[in-house]
Amino acid sequence: MAGTQQPEVNIGLVGHVDHGKTTLVQALSGSWTDQHSEEMKRGISIRLGYADATFRYCEGLEEPECYTVEEECPDGSESEPLRTVSFVDAPGHETLMATMLSGASLMDGAVLVVSANEPVPQPQTEEHLMALDIIGIDNIVIAQNKVDLVSGDQARQNYEEIQEFVEGTVAEGAPVVPVSAGQEVNMDLLIQAIEEEIPTPERDPDADPRMHVARSFDINKPGTRASELAGGVLGGSLVQGELEVDDEIEIRPGREIEEGGQTEYVPIETTVRSLQAGGESVDTVTPGGLLGVGTGLDPSLTKGDALAGRLAGPPGSLPPTWDGFTMDVDLLDRVVGAESGETVDEISTGEPLMMTVGTATTVGAVTSAREGECEVNLKRPVAAEPGAKIAINRRIGARWRLIGLGTLKE
Ligand code: GDP
Ligand code: MG
Repeated sequence: MAGTQQPEVNIGLVGHVDHGKTTLVQALSGSWTDQHSEEMKRGISIRLGYADATFRYCEGLEEPECYTVEEECPDGSESEPLRTVSFVDAPGHETLMATMLSGASLMDGAVLVVSANEPVPQPQTEEHLMALDIIGIDNIVIAQNKVDLVSGDQARQNYEEIQEFVEGTVAEGAPVVPVSAGQEVNMDLLIQAIEEEIPTPERDPDADPRMHVARSFDINKPGTRASELAGGVLGGSLVQGELEVDDEIEIRPGREIEEGGQTEYVPIETTVRSLQAGGESVDTVTPGGLLGVGTGLDPSLTKGDALAGRLAGPPGSLPPTWDGFTMDVDLLDRVVGAESGETVDEISTGEPLMMTVGTATTVGAVTSAREGECEVNLKRPVAAEPGAKIAINRRIGARWRLIGLGTLKE
C-alpha cells in the first residue's frame, strides 16, 4: 500500500531463485508501490525491486496477532501504523550476483528466504548469505517459506537443516519463521520478527547527506524539445543526513572526459530540483527507501544508468575517487554458490577481479599481490572512504564468483 509515511529502513529480500522473495514482498506490501515515474519503475524492477510496506498494530490483541499490514483490525477498529519499511528485492538468479551485491550496500537488514521443500542450502542461499556476511549485514530474519507444500515432519527436518547451515555464519541465532507467502500464513509472526531483529538504525540528522546512486535515467520521451527537457534523474538511497530541494550536490566520480587521448573523471555539480520518496513529491528526504532526485543535469549525462555506482552529496563532502587502490584481503575458504565448492586460490598478480564497492561495480587488474593484501588498477574509478568494504569476485568458469572481502586501505 502506498504509504503516507516515508520508509525509514531498507530491508533486503535475499535467497535462491524461486524460493518466494517476490511473493513475500507482495504479501507484505499489498502491491508494488506505484510511486515512481514509469521509466524509473521499469528500470528499477529490472535490477532491484523496491516496495514499501507499513507495518501496523492492533490494540488489544496478543503477539503475534497484533501485527498486520491491514488498516482494519479484526474487530473493525483502525490499526496503528508502526513504521514504514522499504523492501529491496534482490534477484536470486546467479548471474545477477553483482546486482545483489550492490543492492546489499543499501540494506539495513535482510530477510533470507529459504524454501521448505528443497534441501538446504541451494547455491544462491549460500552465496547471498555469504554476501551479507561480507558486507556486514547482521540483522537477519530467516523466512522458511512454502510450508504449505510440506508435511510437519518435512518442515521440522528442513528447519534443522537451516539451523545447521547458518551455524558459524552471520545468521547464527537469527529467528527462523515458518511462513507461506503464497497463502499469507504467519505474516504476523514474520512482521514481529522483523520488528524485533531489524530496528531502524540511529541516524545523525546533522550528518552531510550522502546518496548511493544505484540507477540514473533520462525521463524525457524521444523527440522532446530542448526547451522542455526535464533534467537528469538519479535513483538510489540516502545513507545519511537529509537532502532538500534546492541543495547543491556533487557527484563522484563524475563523468568521463577525454583529453589528449587520456580519459579522466571530473566531479559533476548540480542542483536538486525535485525529490520523490515514499510515493510522493517531497521537499526533504531522510534515509530509508528508494529516492528519485530530479537534477539540473543534462539528461544525456544520466541516461541508461550512466551515473550508477556514484556517490552524491554536498560539494566537498564526498570521499576521494580512486583509480586504483590497495586492499586488505580476507579470502573465503571455498567458492560458495558453485556446485564444486572448490577451494579459493590466493589472488595473483595480473589477474582480473570484479569488485563491488557500495553500489559501484568495477573491474580491475591486480598489479601486485601479497598474502592478505593486493593492489588493483581499476578500469573505472570509484569514490569510497578508506576502510570501505569491497566484495571481491573472480572469474571462475563462465561467471564471476564471490571469493572474499577486501578493505580499502588509505
Ligand atoms: P523469487 O524468485 O524468490 O522471487 O520467487 P517468487 O516469489 O517469484 O516465487 C516462485 C514461485 O513460488 C512462484 O510460482 C510462487 O507462486 C511460488 N510460491 C511463492 N511462495 C509460495 C508459498 O508460500 N507456497 C507455495 N505453494 N508457492 C509459493
Ligand atoms: Mg523474485
